Amino acid sequence: MRSLLDWLRPHERAMTNMLGQFVRAESPSFDKAAVDRFGRMVAVEWKKRGATVRLLRQRERGDHVRAEWRPRGKRTAAQILVLGHLDTVYDAGTIARMPFRVSRGRAWGPGTFDMKGGLVIALYAMDALAAVGCAPKNRIVFLWTSDEEIGSGSSRPAIEREAKRSDAVLVLEPASGLDGRLKTGRKGVGEIELIATGHAAHAGLDPENGINAIEELALQIVRLSRWNQPRRGITVNVGVIEGGTRTNVIAESARALVDLRASRIEDMRGLERKFRALRPILAGAELEIRGGLNRPPMERKASAALYDKARALSKEMGMTLGEAFVGGGSDGNFTAALGVPTLDGLGAVGEGAHSPNENIVIRALPERAALLAGLFGTS
Ligand SMILES: [Zn+2]
Repeated sequence: MRSLLDWLRPHERAMTNMLGQFVRAESPSFDKAAVDRFGRMVAVEWKKRGATVRLLRQRERGDHVRAEWRPRGKRTAAQILVLGHLDTVYDAGTIARMPFRVSRGRAWGPGTFDMKGGLVIALYAMDALAAVGCAPKNRIVFLWTSDEEIGSGSSRPAIEREAKRSDAVLVLEPASGLDGRLKTGRKGVGEIELIATGHAAHAGLDPENGINAIEELALQIVRLSRWNQPRRGITVNVGVIEGGTRTNVIAESARALVDLRASRIEDMRGLERKFRALRPILAGAELEIRGGLNRPPMERKASAALYDKARALSKEMGMTLGEAFVGGGSDGNFTAALGVPTLDGLGAVGEGAHSPNENIVIRALPERAALLAGLFGTS
């Protein structure tokens, strides 16, 4: 471990420069051309390092990038899957308001932390292993996907296919907190759309003939807001609401989008059942429920053994590595649910994901790369 870190420390500057190049290549999830451009930039770096690179072409979303590294001269069935995403939540042009910059030991900019820093860490982990002459014994597949920030609709089949033939999954999502804790548990995430339909009528001339869809929806929202149990890790949040046309018209339709999260799979299923069981409250109103569970919870048992290994490697570098349970989902939720050991939060250390303040701690870049290289070299 020491020799890996000794090689990486002087490469801090080069890692930061590569991060700057990646951040300037903006890659909003919904902009296929932009994500494709950035994906090719990443693909070039992996080709330079001798990986076999394939683009998994997509029609609507950006292409996913699959880079495979094989130990020389050996055939091995063992595989490690490394997950990361190319896309960011920032619209094209954000870089003009939020330029990549380095100051006070931090690197700032859209996607530095979530999670272009993780992509840099993976490249330098492989460089460090090559430099110290310690090649991994297993096949390593790096899957860089294009739509994690919008639910992984186009990448989920590839992620699950690859996970099923892997012995472990390492996820390069941001670490938790400035002390770089790994993520050993994540809540499950779902999204539900509630659509209320009533009957339009003139609010002054014949209100008795109207059924107000907004009122129906409001009553439903009051009901489902009681399902929150924060202590048990259950949250229900109405994030979007819309409906109606004019003040003098009784609203014919209204809709709400609801985010639901739970720490346990049975609670997630219970929430889904409650939604499905909702019935209209106002006479004559109709209610439609769409959507459901997107990411199942990532339970700690999927991460425990890998976390112990990571902690031991960190100790060799003189560091203590903590763990965290977080409310946000990632592609690690999918792989853990398949029963494949999964360790998440191995990416950059920083703060302010999805905000104008997004930044990473530069000094942690070589440390995280050494940790990842250690996991490649020993598992
Ligand atoms: Zn992310």
